[in-house]
Amino acid sequence: MEHPENDDKYTGLTVNSGVVQPPSVNPYLNKRPRRKPLPTASELVEGILKGDVTALSRAVTLVESLAHDHYALAQEVIDKCLPHSGNSRRIGITGVPGAGKSTSIDVFGLHVLREGGKLAVLAIDPSSERTKGSILGDKTRMEKLAVHPSAFIRPSPSAGSLGGVARKTRETIVLCEAAGYNNIFVETVGVGQSETAVHSMVDFFLLIQIAGAGDELQGIKRGIMEMADGIVINKADGDNIGPAQLAQAQFRSALHLFPPTASGWRPEVLTYSGYYELGIPEVWDMIDRYFAFVKANGYFDTKRREQARWWMYETIDEQLRKHFYDNPDIAARLAAAEADVLANHRSSFAAAADVLNHYFDSKML
Ligand code: GDP
Repeated sequence: MEHPENDDKYTGLTVNSGVVQPPSVNPYLNKRPRRKPLPTASELVEGILKGDVTALSRAVTLVESLAHDHYALAQEVIDKCLPHSGNSRRIGITGVPGAGKSTSIDVFGLHVLREGGKLAVLAIDPSSERTKGSILGDKTRMEKLAVHPSAFIRPSPSAGSLGGVARKTRETIVLCEAAGYNNIFVETVGVGQSETAVHSMVDFFLLIQIAGAGDELQGIKRGIMEMADGIVINKADGDNIGPAQLAQAQFRSALHLFPPTASGWRPEVLTYSGYYELGIPEVWDMIDRYFAFVKANGYFDTKRREQARWWMYETIDEQLRKHFYDNPDIAARLAAAEADVLANHRSSFAAAADVLNHYFDSKML
């Protein structure tokens, strides 16, 4: 519709020309680079070796990234950091949700940092919604460490295959060590398979338990107990001291039934309270004794070498699977094969052989 103001014969109020308004969109916006350019591997490594947390965080983000060009750069950074890594105590910490891992890591961490040095807290939790990129979540879980200048807290790489998530954490360990972190904690929730992955990247595996109603040993996977170098019963405070001690006795007798460990170390069972900070030096004394023991008998180096071999095969497995499943042609054939198998048109073996043959024919020859 016509506006009467625009008519030449209109005698009413008119709008005088005023000050020229600046454009509402910044004209220089386009000229600014949209994203920070990727740093080179040497720049990152230089920063990491100086202990620069920004460089370390950027490198960890690259390790966690799914982008193809990030992968190559991340691998180059890891390769360059490898000669500077290895000089740390790697400690795995597991326990069911509510066992008190966050509370305990906070106090264990502060205890360790009193000796000087630096601490990195990493996590493996492929299933978790909680840790999906939620740095804030993790920082509030460990209040004191979060503000400690010598602590670096990094949540679990976001949900993905366990193998992928675990490999990223393992690579992050290398970066942290190169940046001078001489204590590494790797936390995992003690309910799934992630313990095996954590066990394969740490020197000492600590299982946090709590005294509860009924049989203490129920619901605990035997495998997890077998992996533990130390079992600690948390919340041994107030009225809970008695039940905690009872649980301690039960775990001790259960451990007697297990075969001797490869390290020759006899796993110990202690009680403590993370919340009231009771028994913390004793837990740490156990861990110190373990390190002295395995360094003296050579198991420390043997285990690290075996872990390196394990990771080589893990990485090969993961990359082979990824190469296979990421192939769009294979994905289409798999969908068809799956439908055939579900409809009972073909046997699972014939369908699998078909898809695999196609893969090998097209990729390997
Ligand atoms: P996480 O899920 O294993 O990380 O466990 P949290 O550290 O979040 O602890 C779970 C709950 O147990 C919280 O409410 C803590 O305050 C409580 N808690 C942790 N450690 C202790 C302890 O030593 N004694 C008591 N009484 N409560 C504790």
